Amino acid sequence: MCGIVAYIGYKQAQPILIKGLQRLEYRGYDSAGISILNGSIKTFKTKGKVSELENHIKNKNTDGEAGIAHTRWATHGVPNTKNAHPHFSKSKSLSLIHNGIIENYAILKEELVKRGYQFKSDTDTEVLVNLIEDIRINENVLLDEAVRIALNQVVGAYAIAILSDEHPNTLIAARKGSPLVIGIGEGEYFLASDATPIVEYTKNVVYLQDEEIAVLTRGEDFKIKTTNNKEKTPYVEELEWNLSELEKGGYEHFMMKEIYEQPRSIRDSMRGRLNTTTGTVSLGGIIDYEQTILAAKRITIVACGTSWHAGLVGEYLFEDIARVPVEVEYASEFRYRNPIIEEGDVVIAISQSGETADTLAAIELAKKKGAIIIGVCNVVGSSIARASHAGSYTHAGPEIGVASTKAFTAQVTVLTLMALRLAQLKGSLSRTKFMQLLMEMEALPTKVEKVLNTNGLTEKIAKKFKDVENFLYLGRGYNFPVALEGALKLKEISYIHAEGYPAAEMKHGPIALIDENMPVVFIAPRLGIYEKVVSNIQEVKARKGRVIAIVTEGDTMVREIADYVIEIPETAEYLMPILASIPLQKLAYHMAVMRGCNVDMPRNLAKSVTVE
Ligand code: GLU
Repeated sequence: MCGIVAYIGYKQAQPILIKGLQRLEYRGYDSAGISILNGSIKTFKTKGKVSELENHIKNKNTDGEAGIAHTRWATHGVPNTKNAHPHFSKSKSLSLIHNGIIENYAILKEELVKRGYQFKSDTDTEVLVNLIEDIRINENVLLDEAVRIALNQVVGAYAIAILSDEHPNTLIAARKGSPLVIGIGEGEYFLASDATPIVEYTKNVVYLQDEEIAVLTRGEDFKIKTTNNKEKTPYVEELEWNLSELEKGGYEHFMMKEIYEQPRSIRDSMRGRLNTTTGTVSLGGIIDYEQTILAAKRITIVACGTSWHAGLVGEYLFEDIARVPVEVEYASEFRYRNPIIEEGDVVIAISQSGETADTLAAIELAKKKGAIIIGVCNVVGSSIARASHAGSYTHAGPEIGVASTKAFTAQVTVLTLMALRLAQLKGSLSRTKFMQLLMEMEALPTKVEKVLNTNGLTEKIAKKFKDVENFLYLGRGYNFPVALEGALKLKEISYIHAEGYPAAEMKHGPIALIDENMPVVFIAPRLGIYEKVVSNIQEVKARKGRVIAIVTEGDTMVREIADYVIEIPETAEYLMPILASIPLQKLAYHMAVMRGCNVDMPRNLAKSVTVE
């Protein structure tokens, strides 16, 4: 969480930093701040969004060719101006921005207070900047060495950037557990939490690794060393993104743009991996580990949030198609519950950003126990991608809207391809069935286009229900995770309380909630145990609940009893989650917009959850 941007070079820093913060605002947006170095360091901070910071600095002198900027997602101290970053050291010689949590900040703070330091904010961050200053003065070392010593005393996660008025040509950065990317320009350096603020200036980047410190001096080569004081040779990579992917392209919100990008993102996830002519599926990233996966006694999927829902679809797919036992775990629970993982077990870790702190920790734990890690991430070069033994990128392109949409369907696409590949190797599906599935997959993007073109209907339904307080989402089999995901989307962006349940479980509790005010969304395609779902719909109608049903084109049975039906094209049961989740994304979107919510930046949330 939180967005970090920094610049040192020969251009005016302020416009680069503000634009960078805007691009990173999806990572945190409760307050924002900027420090510019021009002789001395000037800092400007505000509560609220980056636009407020922009207004605040409008008529102020922000000249300077070096600076750091931050958009915060508060962990320590309420979101207000004094807790906003950057934070000064006592002498005002250092200014620091931080993403993450300094877990032992209280002990460090106590020590510093004894030594005469006073604190203006409630943050853990202000402790770190003063610790660095204290070490630099008392141990009489250079700033980068003081940073190194300080970081060795710190427990927790951090990505930091530091400006110093004593070193006007240098910017220092470091990371452990929170991402940082360095962009390399002509004698200039950019620094950011991800590559989105950098891509318009340079395509050459270095992803800083854990426990590395970078010293970026304008006009000079940059240096990287570890917190153990070992010099590192940086690996410069070329960014594949282009700028248009980071802009709204005529849509009012990133979320809607991303919903509409799904035909393309699903196609991109399948590109080069699915071949209906040869009747094969191949995933280059896992080729060397295919036999290991086949030999595994079980697969454990670890993930959080929407990725966890994709993992649940994965469980159905792997067990159904490839006949491999699968468990799906919340990464945050898995990491703290001494799970049984044995040598040779396979753990699939799913994360859009590839930086999710809990998922990363789950990976580390599973690795220690001898598991093989397969990553399914969207962001190339991300921490989870690097920490995995093998993996498959989802290739959905940058996802900016905080509520995940295209990343979810791309994750499900990749998991489907993995399950199909295993089935191909194992021969667990007949050739005819396998080929049918491949053809169905190939046809998916066109069917998604069709689902997207049902314009007006989800809006009409949203208008009807926008003022309700509660929603229930029900589905069975492959559509149970879709119900969970539909409910999560609605909660996240419209703040309506919503629950997802397996349709038949309803009678063991949630049925008590049903009355004439309760809207119930059923995912009820004409597949699998369709008749049983129809009975569940009847049970809701018998109690006067209001039913919105996602049905297969031409359905008549549900149409007769439901209040609203949204049709989606016919497809194989295995692929239904992709098609069925799209109207639910649109429904949540329209409800949120009609309720006046900030769809791309919902309250309290942030994308890329890099804290526990
Ligand atoms: N722990 C720091 C704070 O609460 C940084 C939070 C962030 O990553 O935005 O200020």
